This record gives sequence, C-alpha cells and structure tokens, in this order.
Amino acid sequence: MNFLSSARPSFRRLSSLVRIGNVTVGGDSPIRIQSMLTSNTTDVAACVEEIVRLDRVDCEIIRLTVPNQKAVDALPRIRKGMQECGVSRPLVADIHFSPPLAVAACEFVEKVRINPGNYADRKKFEIREYTDAQYAEELERVEATLLPLITSLKKHGRALRIGTNHGSLSDRVMNRYGDSPEGMVQSALEFLRIFRKHDYHDIVLSMKSSNPIVMMQAYRLLVQRMDEEGMDYPLHLGVTEAGSGIEGRIKSAIGIGGLLVDGLGDTIRVSLTEPSENEIPAAQAILQAARARLYKADLISCPSCGRTFFDLQTTTAQIKERTAHLIGVKIAVMGCVVNGPGEMADADFGYVGAGPGKIHLYKGQTLIERNVPSAVAVERLVDLLREEGVWFDADTAQAA
Ligand code: SF4
Repeated sequence: MNFLSSARPSFRRLSSLVRIGNVTVGGDSPIRIQSMLTSNTTDVAACVEEIVRLDRVDCEIIRLTVPNQKAVDALPRIRKGMQECGVSRPLVADIHFSPPLAVAACEFVEKVRINPGNYADRKKFEIREYTDAQYAEELERVEATLLPLITSLKKHGRALRIGTNHGSLSDRVMNRYGDSPEGMVQSALEFLRIFRKHDYHDIVLSMKSSNPIVMMQAYRLLVQRMDEEGMDYPLHLGVTEAGSGIEGRIKSAIGIGGLLVDGLGDTIRVSLTEPSENEIPAAQAILQAARARLYKADLISCPSCGRTFFDLQTTTAQIKERTAHLIGVKIAVMGCVVNGPGEMADADFGYVGAGPGKIHLYKGQTLIERNVPSAVAVERLVDLLREEGVWFDADTAQAA
C-alpha cells in the first residue's frame, strides 16, 4: 500500500512546468491553490494584511487587480510590506483593457494575467462578418499590441496566464465562433500562437465561466485542441462568480472537481463571495475529494441505518480526529458486516460493526481482528495502524 500521494498522480495530464517566482505550476508539481485579494490594491496596509491571512492558510499564489498606474505604484510597497511580515508568496497582477499596465507590472510581480477578450480589443458589440483577410489583419494588430508585453515578460523572467472568460469574448471571436466553448478556446489559441511564435512559453491557461457546464466543456476542448497542436501548457481551473456558502462550494466542486478527476488542472481557485482566506480550505477539500492532492487521511463512512449497533457519528468523529495527520491513508467506518466490507472496497483499513458492542477490524478486504469490544476498538484500530507501519504521532508530523 502506498499511502502518501505522489506529487502528480498517474491519472493527471502531464503539462509543461511553469515557474512563478518560488512556486512551480505544472509538470510534477502538486496542484497549486491560489486566491485573489478583495482589498483595493492602492490600500497597501489592507493588501498586506490580507496577504498575511492567505499565507497563514497556505495559499500558494496570490493575485491582485491592477486597474491603473496607482495600483502599479502600490506593488513595490506591497512587496516591501510582505517582506517585513516574512511572506514570500508569488504575486499575480490581474490586467484588463490596459497593455501598458501589464508591461509595467512585470517589474514587480511574478506573473501577469491578461484576458484575451479585452487586452487588445474594446468591446463594441458589433455584428459583422469578417473575411479571412480582415480576420488576419485583426490578429496582426493583436500581435503588435502583445509585443511589448512579451519583451517585458522575458526581460523580468515572469510567467503569464491567458485567462479567457466566457462573459468577455472579443467581438471578433464572438462573430466568428459565437458565445461558446469553441469561442473561448479560439480566443486563447489566438493569443497562445502569438506568444509561441515569439518563443515565449511560461504560460498557464484558464477557461472560466460562471456556468460549470460551459467551463468544463471549454477546458476539455482546449486540451483537445492543444493536443492536436502539440502543446502541453498547464491549466488554471476555476468557476468564476460561483457565489457563496454551500452553493458556491458545490458549484466549484462540480466544475473544478469534475475536471480534476479527468486528470486536468495544475492550479485552482475556488472563487467565493466571502473573505478570500475562506477559499483555501474549500480548495483543499476539493483537491482531497478528487484525490488530486492529499492533505489528510480520507475517511469513508456509511450513513448508518437500523443495522448499526454503535454510535457511528461519534465514532467516526473520534477516528477522524485521531487519524487526520495520516495523509493519504483511507479508513472506512461502516455500520455493519452485511454491507460494510463490500462497500468499503477502496479503503486501506476498516472499522466495521459486527453486532451489539462488537467491531471487526480489517486491513483492506482482509479481516484482521474479530469481535473487538467497541469500548476499546478505536484504540485497537490505532494499534493496527501502528503494527502496519502506517501510524506516527501528530507531533512528529508537525515537527517534520
Ligand atoms: Fe446500514 Fe450497513 Fe449500509 Fe451502514 S453499511 S448504511 S449499517 S447497511
């Protein structure tokens, strides 16, 4: 049994490696978790406070909006504030509409995000037919607009995200490909081909939509198109404007989680209408459920029914607390021997009700110990984990 997750599970698409300051994305790197500040970028103190809060919950990449020159000017002061607080997380400048801001931000942040729908185009909502020649002319204009950014990214050694949003495709793309996953993919590919032509490859791509179905279709189509053109750039996954509370988390779990189990995704953001630090545990729980990156032991437990003769909820909570630090170990807590052993097929160890006051303990599908008195069964499970070489003390894990 291999309990610890490898950095890249075998089912995960192998993408190229992109360095974002002191963090890598893609390749064999773990799937990175990121978030975006809600503070105004020009309020340096508020930004630094929020960054420190995100750092404490292990947010690995932090984005902030850069809508004007004042925000660019604030970036070095934010960096200084971070250094004074001992925080070295990479920063990403989020740019819309203003190529000069993207060029300028490269000096101060490890990555720039641009939106191909509005970087070189102003949306006029025009309906017109583009001839192939007119379309090619438009792309030449886009290329000319991107050249200073390519120079700046290379000069400073920065990464880039081409972040396509369903809601902000250019008129050019909308007219030719429609408001569709195909349009989103073509929007990114237009930009991607220009960066590749100029030998710039430190690129991450995203295809966000507030509709998880559209978003999932767009990411899958993007990967298909990249495969056809021999590209393997990493993916940033997210459902944009997902909302808040349980609804926002479920919407993100469907969109992001569905792609993660397909093996797609190299970095994720769970976008919530809540304090930004709330996004991080939600992202970690998604990753864990998709077994894409593991943070704790995995508890499998049945809901219990009339066949259960012990307090399954209390016992599960007890086992969860005792074993949480055993990252990657799958432990099943099942109410009865009638269905429990079969239903827990995926588990490494099982704690299964065998009748009033009696518990059977399993290693995989093998019954190891019968009829353990339930009063001591949790301790016996810990002993079994110890005997099998899986157990270590939580203190040891923290020290390591
Ligand atoms: Fe009921 Fe047994 Fe299924 Fe649990 S495993 S829900 S106790 S039948």
